[in-house]
Amino acid sequence: MTAATPGRVPHLAARLQGFGTTIFSEMTALAVQHDAVNLGQGFPEQDPPLEVINAAHAALEAGHHQYAPGPGVPALRQAIAAHQQRFHGLSYDPDTEVTVTFGATEAVAATVLALAEVGDEIIVLEPTYDAYTAVIAMAGAVERRVPLAPPPPEHPTVGWRLDPDRFAAAVGPRTRAVLINSPHNPTGSLLSEAELAAIAEVCVRHDLVAITDEVYEHLVYDGRHLPLAGFPGMRERTVTISSAGKTFSATGWKIGWACAPASLATAVRTTKQFLSFAGGTPLQHAVAHALELPDDVFEDLAATHRRRRDLLHDGLRSVGLPVIPSAATYFLVADVRALGQGRGEDVCRWAPAAIGVAAVPVSAFVRDPTDVAHLVRFAFCKQEAVLAEGVRRLGAAVAR
Ligand code: PMP
Ligand code: GLN
Repeated sequence: MTAATPGRVPHLAARLQGFGTTIFSEMTALAVQHDAVNLGQGFPEQDPPLEVINAAHAALEAGHHQYAPGPGVPALRQAIAAHQQRFHGLSYDPDTEVTVTFGATEAVAATVLALAEVGDEIIVLEPTYDAYTAVIAMAGAVERRVPLAPPPPEHPTVGWRLDPDRFAAAVGPRTRAVLINSPHNPTGSLLSEAELAAIAEVCVRHDLVAITDEVYEHLVYDGRHLPLAGFPGMRERTVTISSAGKTFSATGWKIGWACAPASLATAVRTTKQFLSFAGGTPLQHAVAHALELPDDVFEDLAATHRRRRDLLHDGLRSVGLPVIPSAATYFLVADVRALGQGRGEDVCRWAPAAIGVAAVPVSAFVRDPTDVAHLVRFAFCKQEAVLAEGVRRLGAAVAR
């Protein structure tokens, strides 16, 4: 269910037929139309830290209005390299190994378009973030999905798990790369050290490139985020992607980046320069400042979202909607059968108008919805009063 209108779109190339409108846009439109509490699209209801906004003002006033260098302004590339060193112990040369992009989305697109020959296979985890599928299709590559298995409905608290043998078995003669997302949208799960080690071992054994989307790296509540690039043999084959959107509550700024060894970075830069060349110059300067803020800014963000996660988790459970624990991200997944409206997809189309709550069905992220049909993703990056009101409305609907 990625598309609102699965019908054929005139003029659109065959490889992009079926993509429709993203589930996030569709559900936000329903939320706006019905003035519903929007627990669908993952954008925070809070501003970036004041000093980050001030840094953007200062950059505008300092006259940073023209094109940045293609790979990004030097101050930001240096700040990204320092951030990777400070938080992850990974060392990158800002001149040759760090590339600034138009959000993580462009970094993923530039990387996939740079690496994949037509017909090459790229392994992704399922549930799959929609942009991966689309850009793999744009590249003429083939997506191979490996499931993160949801917990059985009778034991919803077990969490999502990757079967390392299934992951290894997905590799074939045409596999070019693996595209891994951890912390993971939409499940809110964090790959464990053992799961990451198994992925790394497969990459090294088959000489694959790893592309890792780590946009939720600072939104971790239980456990620890480990970058795949930190595993043995991985730094030289990994493109590590992140962005300022989640970390600084600035999803509309679209300042992202890719860190990779120089040979891979050169390939990524080659495509990136023809996708957008360079943009957001004043915001690049502001993010350079943001990335150098002290650790407590990053810790406060996680603490705020941990409280919100707990509020939504406990709230949904208390009104009779079983929750799969979320260790990270903006999201948690709940079993919505108690609402009596059938599948998660039906609930999400019904709820904005009927009870004033918008959310996203997990079925939008999978090909075969059998195992996840009862599951809905709720975003908790909202004010506590908004979350409480969402829970109240859902609770009233369960009670009816
Ligand atoms: N990757 C994942 C897993 C996401 O959830 C999102 C959006 N929330 C993005 C990438 C997009 O990041 P950006 O806005 O920086 O392009
Ligand atoms: N990543 C955001 C989410 O998962 C949405 C981004 C978008 O709207 N494309 O909700």
